[in-house]
Amino acid sequence: HPRRTPLIAGNWKMNLDHLQAIAFVQKLAWNLKDAKHDVAAVEVAVFPPFTDLRSVQTLVSADKLPIAFGGQDLSAQDSGAYTGEISGAFLAQLECKYVLIGHSERRTLHAETDEVVAAKVTAALKHNLVPIICVGETAADLELHGPSAVPVAQLRAALAGVSNAADFVVAYEPVWAIGSGQAATPEQAEQVAAQLRLVLQESLGQDVADKTRILYGGSVKGSNIAGYMREPNVDGALVGGASLDIDEFSSIVRFQK
Ligand code: PEP
Repeated sequence: HPRRTPLIAGNWKMNLDHLQAIAFVQKLAWNLKDAKHDVAAVEVAVFPPFTDLRSVQTLVSADKLPIAFGGQDLSAQDSGAYTGEISGAFLAQLECKYVLIGHSERRTLHAETDEVVAAKVTAALKHNLVPIICVGETAADLELHGPSAVPVAQLRAALAGVSNAADFVVAYEPVWAIGSGQAATPEQAEQVAAQLRLVLQESLGQDVADKTRILYGGSVKGSNIAGYMREPNVDGALVGGASLDIDEFSSIVRFQK
């Protein structure tokens, strides 16, 4: 779609300390330069641990690198007695553009409900962060309800407080495909992405449906990215494991349709 710039996003999870982060971002920037990466054609973003963000910000702003970054989560609160939490205000202050919300590991390991996800989306938008709303069905959901029902319900719930002026991204990540090496086929990803775009249209109108990027995530690597990028409703990828390998991640960014 001409109005949607592809986004390749690397979710580092709890990997790479701030020194490793600096080395990685430097190499990534070098690879992009080497590949004559067209900044306007593909947007690249990394999601380091919170403790890396200040270092990444310093490097990216000093060298004006064409790499966006963001947090892997945020608090629904602005500030206060919430030990261990990180506010959207802090992320914005560090020039984060994006924030991941509702990743399946947050939903399962930290019991994040649809209500919590919706509150975090509202908080992110309040602080001018672009939320990347993660949705996806488990293997059990898939068997019981088919591929789209759970992601569609999760997206509807996450959009509860979102207006049609909001800038956000949706990541479709089937839980059974995350870290499993068992990626969804491009056709499977497209089928759910198309349903998610319908939700955007019904909830927020045609303009939002046309401009909002929908990413696929789940065992994406250099050798399978092109298939997803050929699908009309898939506008990029959220990459976990392969985002930690500089050559693999660089080859994903340089995908050829
Ligand atoms: C993820 O956790 O967002 C993800 C897609 O992981 P992986 O690429 O390792 O499947």
